Amino acid sequence: MNMDLYMWVGYPVSPYFEKWVGTLEGIDYMIDNLVKKGFNGIVIGPFSAMENPEGKRQYGPFNSEIYRESLRQKIGSNIIKADFYHPFYPTEKYYRDTIVKAPYVSGCEISGKKYFKQVMKIAKDRGLKVYYLWMSATPINEFAPINTQIITDAFGNKKGFVCINTPGFLEYMAGYLKDILDNYSELDGIILDLLQFPSYTADLLFTCFCEGCRNKAEKYGYVFNDFKRAALKTFSQIKNLDRERIMQISNNGLGPIDTIAEIFSNEDFVNWWNFRFSSINEFAQCVRDIVNDIGPSLELNIDCVSPSFAPLFGVNMKSLRKYADVINPKFYPSEDLFGWRGSIISYANFIRENREKEVDEYLAIKFLAKLFNIEELSKFKTLIELKETPFSIELFKNEINKAINLINDRKRIKPWVRLDYALTDEIKNMIKALSSANLGGAIFRYYAAATEEKLNIIQKEFEKY
Ligand SMILES: [Zn+2]
Repeated sequence: MNMDLYMWVGYPVSPYFEKWVGTLEGIDYMIDNLVKKGFNGIVIGPFSAMENPEGKRQYGPFNSEIYRESLRQKIGSNIIKADFYHPFYPTEKYYRDTIVKAPYVSGCEISGKKYFKQVMKIAKDRGLKVYYLWMSATPINEFAPINTQIITDAFGNKKGFVCINTPGFLEYMAGYLKDILDNYSELDGIILDLLQFPSYTADLLFTCFCEGCRNKAEKYGYVFNDFKRAALKTFSQIKNLDRERIMQISNNGLGPIDTIAEIFSNEDFVNWWNFRFSSINEFAQCVRDIVNDIGPSLELNIDCVSPSFAPLFGVNMKSLRKYADVINPKFYPSEDLFGWRGSIISYANFIRENREKEVDEYLAIKFLAKLFNIEELSKFKTLIELKETPFSIELFKNEINKAINLINDRKRIKPWVRLDYALTDEIKNMIKALSSANLGGAIFRYYAAATEEKLNIIQKEFEKY
């Protein structure tokens, strides 16, 4: 096997780990099991998920059925509440001069000392590589740093993610990286996650109009209010696409970029769109400089959504390859917030809102298949069908080929692969497509969802190559 196989083991951590979940000895079993199944690396962080009895969240980080069930045996029908923090207690000196500060929570050092340090030690003893997930545009209800700007839409609504254009954010990221390396000095690499304008759902598309973005846009010489006008205009254009127009676009024979250009052909929209790309590229360049400065031996991985969705998130995968050693597109076909189906369903509902009769589900899906250039989508007549039918190997191969065309080096592509959802046949198709593509490797999300059955599929498929 010449592909790297990594498992993210970041989730099942809590200061009550030993009491509730198992014992620290379980870490030996986990690592040995991964080695046996052909894995040669793990990913830790960014979470230290702490049980919080007065917690804000009504669900835990433990959103794998298997994990939740084991927790249920201990806590019965009580609500699972958890907060997310760095898996170590932040060292104050690194944030003394930064505007953005690390979140402090008493007790969060425990899982860092007891769990992640132990995971790191055992993984290193067994010769595994260890990577750390290093977050940027984090969801604000999960371990968000303090004094950040919240992503804001063109109507002024706050959207629940930290904006990468937050003033002082990069200084914080530099401090955070030093802190990570103090705590986990033997890391082989880091994975920058969520470098994007999150656009998982249609209402997230018309962002970001926070003060940080205003400052950045003005620095670039743009008139920020023109962006807002363009976003609002685009919003109403989409809302007013009539049946005839949608059909015409779905069959126009143009590629997705030309289609977008045709629908939203106004200069301010193009400037706004380019501003999003530039903001992300500039952030990636600064991150590259930070890594060169603080941890030059670290392999810098940068995550992004999968190629079909990247432009919506302000991510130009072609430019990412200039900054990162490895790119990690997310193969997340699931129907939750972060998944492909979740996005498609949200966008379809957005297009159809208040005109369900005029624009049926089939037409909306066809339109999106065209926009994302995912031909196979247009075979689904309804959203239910889209939810329940496993995607084919071909669909995943097409997505992989898009990534290869953009990054131009198979070995520098290591996609994230979702294991924590129910369509096992589809997971099998995805793994088959990935294993035959001769990429640099794959990162699996995550150990708590990696049943013996799924681990065996991974082992069997990747062993062939
Ligand atoms: Zn912003």
